[in-house]
Amino acid sequence: MSNLSLNENLIRQVVSQVLAEVTRGGGVAASSYTTSSYAGRHGVFTDVDQAVNAARDAFEQLSQRGMEDRRKIIEIIRRISVSQCVELGTMEMNETKIGRLVHKIEKLKTLGEKTPGVEFMKSECFSGDHGLAVIEHAPFGVVLAITPVTHSLPTITGNAVSMIAAGNAVVVNPHPSGKKVAVEGVRRFNEAIKREVGIDNLISIIAEPTLDTANALFAHRGINMICVTGGPAVARAALRSGKKAVVAGPGNPPVVVDETADFDRAARAMITGAAYDNNLLCIAEKEVFVVDSVFDKVMQAMERAGAIRLNSGEVDRLTKAAIVKVGDDKHDAPCKDFLGQDAAVLAKAAGKSVSDKCELIFGEVDESNPFVPVEQMMPFLPFVRVRTFEEAVAKAKHYEHGFRHTSIIHSHNVKHMTYMGRVLDTTLYVKNGPCMAALGLGGEGYLSFSIAGPTGEGVTTPLTFTRERRCSMIDDLWILGKPKS
Ligand code: NAD
Repeated sequence: MSNLSLNENLIRQVVSQVLAEVTRGGGVAASSYTTSSYAGRHGVFTDVDQAVNAARDAFEQLSQRGMEDRRKIIEIIRRISVSQCVELGTMEMNETKIGRLVHKIEKLKTLGEKTPGVEFMKSECFSGDHGLAVIEHAPFGVVLAITPVTHSLPTITGNAVSMIAAGNAVVVNPHPSGKKVAVEGVRRFNEAIKREVGIDNLISIIAEPTLDTANALFAHRGINMICVTGGPAVARAALRSGKKAVVAGPGNPPVVVDETADFDRAARAMITGAAYDNNLLCIAEKEVFVVDSVFDKVMQAMERAGAIRLNSGEVDRLTKAAIVKVGDDKHDAPCKDFLGQDAAVLAKAAGKSVSDKCELIFGEVDESNPFVPVEQMMPFLPFVRVRTFEEAVAKAKHYEHGFRHTSIIHSHNVKHMTYMGRVLDTTLYVKNGPCMAALGLGGEGYLSFSIAGPTGEGVTTPLTFTRERRCSMIDDLWILGKPKS
């Protein structure tokens, strides 16, 4: 072999090593990129670098597999979420101590069954005089998922299904108050995926998550994309990260009821939505504006449908107990002792005794009551009396705080529906149903528990976690074209 070809070989080796590093981390080699195997860890890590490296290894293995293996992996996640929903849902309830057991269980089952998978992976194609262009949707690589306490494992189930369907690996930084169930779920997913498909750590998780681990992951060169599901602070942090971020942020969904609504149907829908998991859903009804001429009828319909009404003294007592001042600016926030607790617990604080079976309490408030602007996440629904439909919509817009998350109307006036839809400009807009109908639960459409308002992706799907690639054939393969003479 000549000196020249030896050098060429050396150069080729170095170039291919550098290319491999760049593909792994999107930048210059970082000390954290090791080649050691993390097989057998089943995704559970305390060290951020190890978690990212293990997910990167898993991503590279997944990249060598076809769509059929992605489908198998997703089936495993679905199977565990559905078949173990009682055990894992109970674990989540015992750990987080917020919400309702029946819904903790149901959420795992629903996310397992209904999250969009590989069937959403479609390519687009353009053909014409100049040949053929195919647009395909490629994985980003390793996606960071930050998940909320309100649905710890269900959010991981949904994120993992969609992200892996798109060909990615996932690193999860769960909420510290829901970390145990998150780790146990992820361990079970990985253990089965390793056994049945041969890849470990496709979902890596930080077992002791903190704000420091979150920040280290935001900045990590091995993370290619971020998806956060949570409140304002994490939404802001993700947008500052300098990485491609999908932000599923907070909401404060208003409801408007006008003169033309079916009041009994509206009442049933509001109870179903606002009481679900004790109002922990980000899409859940949080405050209601009702036109004066039908206000009393709507309140009576709520009572007929099983909600219990508080009088003004009781509302005042509940407000003092359940809304507290926090932060340097002393802003109103839900008191942790009441967040996600049962209606009977809230009623007791209001000085009223109600049955454990009561799902929702409600009452008339002035718009200055903090339950109106605060995302309370409690099964107490405040009702505000307004003079006109236009005033209802204006107040709904004001108290939605510009999140553009979710809004709901009960009406049979199509002009009113159109007007409110245009003014509120929210990602989800429900007419004549409970909030969850917008996620295909009693309405049409598909489901995700990461609804990206601020960054605009809406209800996330596998395509949310992809990058477009175009493959162009010039002047050929347009088989409909006339042969060139
Ligand atoms: P949270 O904001 O307290 O926590 C969410 C996650 O972000 C947790 O993992 C937490 O540890 C992390 N976090 C918080 N502050 C952070 C920071 N400064 N830097 C890095 N990470 C940070 O929210 P929560 O109480 O767990 O969940 C409820 C909130 O999430 C509500 O505001 C609700 O509307 C929102 N949410 C939105 C969606 C959606 O799809 N848009 C879905 C579920 C919940």
